[in-house]
Amino acid sequence: MEHQPHILLLPFPALGHIKPLLSLAELLCQAGLHVTFLNTDHMHRSLTRLPQPSSHFPTLYFDFISDGLPTDHPRNMKLIGELMISLKSVTKQRFRDLLAELSTKSERPVTCVIADGIMSFAVDIAKELGVRVITFWAFSPCCLWPFLCLPKLIEEGQLPVGGEDDDMDRMVKGVPGMEGLLRRRDLPSICRRQLDSPIFQFYVEQIKAMTQTSALILNTFDRLEDPTLSYIAPLFSKIYTIGPLTALLTSHIEHDILPSLSSFNNLCEADRSCMTWLDSQSLRSVVYVSFGTTGLMKRSQLLEFWHGLVNSGKPFLWVVRRDDIEGAEAEHPIPEELQVGTKERGFLVDWAPQEEVLAHQAVGGFLTHNGWNSTLEGIVAGVPMVCWPTLADQQINSRWVSEVWRIGLDMKDTCDRSTIEMMIRAVMEERREEMMRSMDRIVKLAHDCVNHGGSSYHNLDKLIEDIKEI
Ligand code: UDP
Repeated sequence: MEHQPHILLLPFPALGHIKPLLSLAELLCQAGLHVTFLNTDHMHRSLTRLPQPSSHFPTLYFDFISDGLPTDHPRNMKLIGELMISLKSVTKQRFRDLLAELSTKSERPVTCVIADGIMSFAVDIAKELGVRVITFWAFSPCCLWPFLCLPKLIEEGQLPVGGEDDDMDRMVKGVPGMEGLLRRRDLPSICRRQLDSPIFQFYVEQIKAMTQTSALILNTFDRLEDPTLSYIAPLFSKIYTIGPLTALLTSHIEHDILPSLSSFNNLCEADRSCMTWLDSQSLRSVVYVSFGTTGLMKRSQLLEFWHGLVNSGKPFLWVVRRDDIEGAEAEHPIPEELQVGTKERGFLVDWAPQEEVLAHQAVGGFLTHNGWNSTLEGIVAGVPMVCWPTLADQQINSRWVSEVWRIGLDMKDTCDRSTIEMMIRAVMEERREEMMRSMDRIVKLAHDCVNHGGSSYHNLDKLIEDIKEI
């Protein structure tokens, strides 16, 4: 144990990035490796349920580093550009000092950094200090491929998209393998920004840096994204597809490799009363609604969803985050009519144990923003989706859910009660059978990949072996 490697994991400061990397941390520790999980100070303070190093994981350590923003900065999506700039300037310098210390002076020197694909400053620093660095891409691979093609799309004048007269249904050219599928509206959301905007530039830099790392870890499974992976793989000397990470963790628990289900799976305190409510609902009758942890919606959109859900006649369990609604006063996050009107058929919570909810037998549909974790969790649980993407990789994830994997319907760029009602009815009843046929096939592939002998199981072993050889 004394001579085991020490890995430093560095997520982007957002729950959707921290969660899969924590699953990886747990799997690496289980293999006896030492892991330091480095959060920003703000995230470290807000994750009240971070596990303590315990007898189960004696080789797991938590550390934190400043994100460079003042304590009272809201750090929300509207101001994400400020966070990105601060990470590149302030955090980068602090990271250099920390890694210099951990890779030389520490009694267990850090031998490898696994850095989030959008924390690429770590690549420069690790290289400068002679520490091996591997990229962890927390978004979907089907979004990574257009990202990797950005220089070509820019050169050909295909970006930005979404201008006043832009035909968003026009097909994108120049992303091999995605012709005839990828419309302008399906491109990652940053493609809707001006090319000289800080956020667009931030992503261009990140992608450039990540291609300079020797290896890439992807939270997906081969059989789900074989065609896309075949384009990405030649650009990296090694690719480890080890997803869905939460299912890989579960499979290790089932095989008694891990001592217990990690408390990591719920980073925030969940309102468990919804589980009791679900127990009282009939089989596959409930629509679970969650739009993730970062996106914002207008109050008018929230009401459209509410009307659509009520009109569909289906019971629903809805996560309405306190900071979900754009511009809402903190003390009145949920409109009065929603609180009153949901009593009959709906149940509102501010944080649900999502994976447990999706696995509950009462849940029959998932109205989701298609964050990559949520999309994979929907797949693992075999719950067909109605997709309302807003940010990042969500636009392309929803396209793949509806047109490639055929396990849901995409309502991208629309938000009206009749479409919501119609799509919920389709997923829960009219088109359920056809979607469940595709879903059952994909669920089986996912489970095969994470079980002993499967590609994700094997790739994790390979990753651990390669890290040990550094
Ligand atoms: N999540 C949860 N309970 C909630 C809402 C979200 O556990 O009430 C978890 C969800 O299971 C997922 C993560 O938060 O793992 C959100 O990540 P995702 O990539 O889906 O979206 P993001 O929040 O990054 O947009």
